[in-house]
Amino acid sequence: MAKIKVLPNKLINQIAAGEVIERPASVLKELVENSIDAGANRVDILIDNGGLTRIEVIDNGSGMDKDDLETAFIRHATSKITREEDLSSLTSLGFRGEALPSIASVSRVTIKSRTKNHSEGHLLVLEGGELIKRQVVGCKIGTSITVENLFYNTPARLKFMGSARAETQRISALFKQLALSHPNISFRYFRDGKEIALTSGSGRLINAITALFDSKTVKHLLALEHCRNDYRVTGFISDPELTQYNRRNQFFFVNNRAIQDANIRHALESAYGRMLAHRSYPLAFLNITIPPADVDVNVHPTKSEVRFARKRDVHALITAAVQQALANSARLVGDEAAAALDYLPGTTETSGLKEPVRQYQVFNHGTVDSPLDRPSSAVNIAGSAEFPAVSYVQKLAADIEYNRSASVDYAREIPLELSQIMLLGQVHSSFIVIQNKRGMAVIDQHAAHERIIIERLRRKTSEQHIQFFAVPLTLSFARLTSDLIKDYLSELNELGIIMEAFGTNNFLVRGIPDFLAGRLSIDELKETISEVFTNENNVSKWHDNLLISLSCKSAVKIHQTLTREEMLMLITDLANTPNWRFCPHGRPIIWEIPFNDLERKFNRV
Ligand code: ADP
Ligand code: MG
Repeated sequence: MAKIKVLPNKLINQIAAGEVIERPASVLKELVENSIDAGANRVDILIDNGGLTRIEVIDNGSGMDKDDLETAFIRHATSKITREEDLSSLTSLGFRGEALPSIASVSRVTIKSRTKNHSEGHLLVLEGGELIKRQVVGCKIGTSITVENLFYNTPARLKFMGSARAETQRISALFKQLALSHPNISFRYFRDGKEIALTSGSGRLINAITALFDSKTVKHLLALEHCRNDYRVTGFISDPELTQYNRRNQFFFVNNRAIQDANIRHALESAYGRMLAHRSYPLAFLNITIPPADVDVNVHPTKSEVRFARKRDVHALITAAVQQALANSARLVGDEAAAALDYLPGTTETSGLKEPVRQYQVFNHGTVDSPLDRPSSAVNIAGSAEFPAVSYVQKLAADIEYNRSASVDYAREIPLELSQIMLLGQVHSSFIVIQNKRGMAVIDQHAAHERIIIERLRRKTSEQHIQFFAVPLTLSFARLTSDLIKDYLSELNELGIIMEAFGTNNFLVRGIPDFLAGRLSIDELKETISEVFTNENNVSKWHDNLLISLSCKSAVKIHQTLTREEMLMLITDLANTPNWRFCPHGRPIIWEIPFNDLERKFNRV
């Protein structure tokens, strides 16, 4: 007697279910993917008891008519592909035609569906894969499907289920993944009757992220966008300040399909380099778009792993995108972080720079020749009537000499943004434009100078150079202000503002920090001091307020022409100043435009 028999359909489906349907979360994944494939823009998900009791998905997609509804439960029945060639140009999430028959074979399924061409819908109930009820019903356009008593007829599988809590956690994680992969769909998630989450369906990833994560997380995200030939990645990563102990919040989507991929993970994490502490992982939401023919989805029944035709290109794409986002980051933690980025145009595969940049050091301004080069104009900084006008260059030259000799900890590494620079010019006497190691950058001259000055003011008097006046200047203030100032005279001295009381409301100013001399009028000094000491309430902040106000008033202004030397000095100083990315008011100082961005702008990559 023959021993080999063809298995009955029901058993075949149960065996297939073992592969596709591992647990409640896998059921949910298949159902929601069907809703997405059906073009829904609203999907409601209802889960009871971790999905072990009930999983329901309601969509407003295309729906199915009477015949399709029954065919859908036949193994390998699918509307998504018809020919072998279709496998290489998949745009749908499903294609195997296995999910519905597999799910139905291990649970009780109730499905209701209606298309826009019919005024009524149809309902089917299947139990263990057997059709037990068929009925015409009234319902909305779309499909709703309820899966109950999962694995009731496969006790072996049931034994492997975690607690309802563990399954709920898996489902919640999956929900995030689904909602993030399709920001154009409004997802609602109910757990044991309670609404847990709702996304807007606005089409913008950041809206979906905001709906699912707390505001603290969102604040630490950096936008990212990068193209290489026909490969493209967009999305968000966390700045190095926000990391986690696991990779749970790393989401990778390839052509809108959520996938797991060690290669992408590796590219992401290694791009952060030394910015990441041991065992800490960044958050990531990466949308990768590549031609469907370059990715094989048909690797695993759950379709969560894919195979890339050009794995190295994907790696290079992610590396470049992440490095660029970190480098551009206005919120980047510090110079160590910038230094950790060893993104060198011309040395990586991703770079567009075919020839090495000429190496310009900040100091070699004598050799710079750019088309924008112009003869040095006269030093153009107005001195006030009271204070001697001293050119910025003279002052800075003295200062730099001083810093070199006196201040050991001032010898910092030059930030990448400001290294190997070539001065290109000044835009409308307001913004300095340079070529740097990675491309180009625009510097707000006022903001940069403010920062330089405030950091100098912060240094101790012992480190300040004071400019003493041959004849002291007299300042008078209102009574209240004068009283307050008297309490703070020694602190003002500490800052290099050498003042003493002279009668009730008058003060003699004998000297000020030399880098302020020629940059600040006596009226401005008076104004600053009276603003800071007007009332007792804000006196606690007098120190910060004074420094901010002094630096703002004495910094070069927007619409002020600078010579090449002055610009180069300013950049040199900035490179040697702590907190050089932001001015004291919190505005950015520098805007870097990497070479890659220029190339992309002109459709060269
Ligand atoms: P696949 O998704 O791989 O095609 P499934 O077993 O998941 O296989 O679904 C079988 C077919 O049922 C699909 O090809 C589709 O035509 C139809 N279908 C399933 N779910 C829905 C839905 N929510 N809305 C409309 N059609 C659906
Ligand atoms: Mg499917």
